[in-house]
Amino acid sequence: MAKQTGSNMETVRKSNRFAILKYLNDNGPTSRKDLAAAIGLTPAAVTMICNNLLEEGVVTETGVSESQGKAGRRQIYLDIVSDAAYIISVNIETEDTTIAMCDIRGDIVECRSIITKSNVKPEDFLEEIVGMIEEILKSASRKAKKVVAISVGVPGIVDEDAGIARNAYGIWEDEVDIQGFLAERFDYEICVTNNVSAFAMAEQLYGMGRGHENLMIIKWGPGVGCAMIIDQHIYEGRHGKAAELGHFIVEKNGIKCNCGRRGCLETKIGYQALQKVAKFDMGDFGKCYAKSTGHNREDFDDAIDLFARSVVNSATIMAPNRIVLAGMMFEDEIIRDRMIKCCISYDSHFSENRICYSQLASKEKYIGPVAAYVLRFYFT
Ligand SMILES: [Zn+2]
Repeated sequence: MAKQTGSNMETVRKSNRFAILKYLNDNGPTSRKDLAAAIGLTPAAVTMICNNLLEEGVVTETGVSESQGKAGRRQIYLDIVSDAAYIISVNIETEDTTIAMCDIRGDIVECRSIITKSNVKPEDFLEEIVGMIEEILKSASRKAKKVVAISVGVPGIVDEDAGIARNAYGIWEDEVDIQGFLAERFDYEICVTNNVSAFAMAEQLYGMGRGHENLMIIKWGPGVGCAMIIDQHIYEGRHGKAAELGHFIVEKNGIKCNCGRRGCLETKIGYQALQKVAKFDMGDFGKCYAKSTGHNREDFDDAIDLFARSVVNSATIMAPNRIVLAGMMFEDEIIRDRMIKCCISYDSHFSENRICYSQLASKEKYIGPVAAYVLRFYFT
């Protein structure tokens, strides 16, 4: 059943606030008048919302324009205050977990990294994370006063409203109430988001997706992760299982996949699958590819070609404005060039501008949860 949501004053207020902050984020300092024109609100409404934002310290007035306004008044620009608040990002990945303190724009203050432990009780591992958070808060004590939230990114199925990891593939088999655990120890807002969705939000907020309504983000390494943003919102689908690009069935009676089906894309092009062609470290895929010859090269090319075909097919359904590639397996230019060329060979509407490589690669380990909190809570 489709959710029918009525608009009350509170939802209208939230959506107007979001529109203003997102516009400032995407376009930089803007006058109230230009904001009103761009968003389609009356100048009086914009002034009222901006007064609240100024009072909260979320935005600031930044300088005066050269040109004179209509009534002879100079125009004042508004901009987001980067250090108005800080967020603790906890990004749990299969191999390692990164804990970082960042400002509203995702700039880092402090960062720690630990091995993700799937062989201990979830509470014990979360306790280790708590210890790291406390270390960071102590080390950056002046900025710690402005920490407003702990935002967690975790793989697999996440109940975002309840803050529960339902099935974190490869880490926890059972449900883990991350929000409940952290809320007992800290007095901050806690939010939990699927890690690929969180990274997609980072692309939307800070990366190649800025200013685009529809986006597809594809992460390669070790598996194949994908997220879709439709009309500026993550599309979750039934049971939060939309955009499972890695589980496109590409082979009849193929190898059994983690998901229980056979012949999924991931069983053909995942890091583990490609280890059968040649042994390499995930970040060295480009080097290994460049050195490969004969059958090995053909196998690698077939894998990239199969991946490209799946991406082109999914883009045929969704028609995103932009497709952003990310993840360790795309780290080397030789691999992403090959991928982009393969996509263009299947569909000439793919240009190098429409399918591009993430500019957030160096921030990949912590930026997602920051963006998830800013978009889901701070901007609304
Ligand atoms: Zn599968």
